[in-house]
Amino acid sequence: MQTETMQTEPTPPNDPGGALIPITHRPDVVFTRGEGSWLWDNTGKRYLDFVQGWAVNCLGHCPAVVAEALAEQSRTLMNCSPAYYSVPLVDYARALTAASGLARVFPANSGAEANEGAIKLARKWGALNRNGAFEIITTHHAFHGRTLATMSASGKAGWDALFEPKVPGFPKVPLNDLAAVEAAITERTVAVMLEPIQGEAGVWPATDDYLRGLRALTEERNILLILDEIQTGMGRTGELFAWQHPEVRPDIMTLGKGIGAGVPLAALLAREEVCCFEPGDQGGTYNGNPLMAAVGLAVLRAVTAPGFLDGVVAAGARLAAGLEALSARHGLGGVRGRGLLLALDLGSRKDAAAIAAAALDRGLLLNAPRPDALRFMPALTVTGGEIDAMLEILDGLLR
Ligand SMILES: *Cc1c(COP(=O)(O)O)cnc(C)c1O
Repeated sequence: MQTETMQTEPTPPNDPGGALIPITHRPDVVFTRGEGSWLWDNTGKRYLDFVQGWAVNCLGHCPAVVAEALAEQSRTLMNCSPAYYSVPLVDYARALTAASGLARVFPANSGAEANEGAIKLARKWGALNRNGAFEIITTHHAFHGRTLATMSASGKAGWDALFEPKVPGFPKVPLNDLAAVEAAITERTVAVMLEPIQGEAGVWPATDDYLRGLRALTEERNILLILDEIQTGMGRTGELFAWQHPEVRPDIMTLGKGIGAGVPLAALLAREEVCCFEPGDQGGTYNGNPLMAAVGLAVLRAVTAPGFLDGVVAAGARLAAGLEALSARHGLGGVRGRGLLLALDLGSRKDAAAIAAAALDRGLLLNAPRPDALRFMPALTVTGGEIDAMLEILDGLLR
């Protein structure tokens, strides 16, 4: 995700056959083991991980609760096709609806697939309730995934010209501009879809007031509010879901990344009134398989355990304060984000990629989502000592 442009490169030493389609610029490191906030490569070098699979490993590397859920469920029942009930599937779905207050769940395998489902559900709801309205208003710089429809819904720079023709029906507005949404709503509009914090774009939060305004506006105009919580959900911002900060429950929500804590798992949730899928409209071979559902249930239990989110809030405050101090010391542009999804704005410096590369050499994994920002998405279980260790390395790199 560091860069989208494909270049012909010499075959890297760690992929001597060049067997992989080059979809990203991988550094020449091979990871062999992970534990908590730490990774080891095949030379034995240790790395402090503030990327965690792009905000995926919410419980750190190889968490015991996930390993145990996988081991136990894999000895019991791995798969019985999505056309049958299984105990983990039903328990997982019930736990998600109880935690979110949204009545129904469609389990998915990736964030993009959950968002595809959200788009299809909104379009069907529009066909039934709004005279075939199908347009979903999304935001500039949004990231909703890499299938054709979710790329079309995304507002990532450079994507508009890729893989044409796109899926039509995604007019875009600037983030945090309620009047722009109001002006974009027509009789063709069925929903507004956004991330509570734009993660891939470089951690740009939708303000609480804007989200409250969107909730009121969409209700007034009888259109749906879809929140893509794939990066912000599962405790990342200090609440289980980011919409709990402004207290605006969406009509449709998608989850991914943290919900599987490292295994492929995602979910589409919706209010009862919106759930107009009928048998045959939506599905997938692996959707809701007992093995992944058992993991989802274990992760949800861990993240909603008493005190867990307090720990995220405390760790987030410590990380934010430390980054603010670095920003002041080095004359940078400040800190954005919430909880443990934060960005350090490098101000006039445009060397985020070089800093991330130097960090890797020093045994620290950082992400540079744009030339002037570093993104921090450690495990939600990151310790104060690990945060301080990261800040110390970063301080040295910024000099
Ligand atoms: C990562 C991400 C996606 C895509 O999820 P995949 O599992 O990679 O398909 C969609 N939306 C947001 C906000 C994301 O951060």
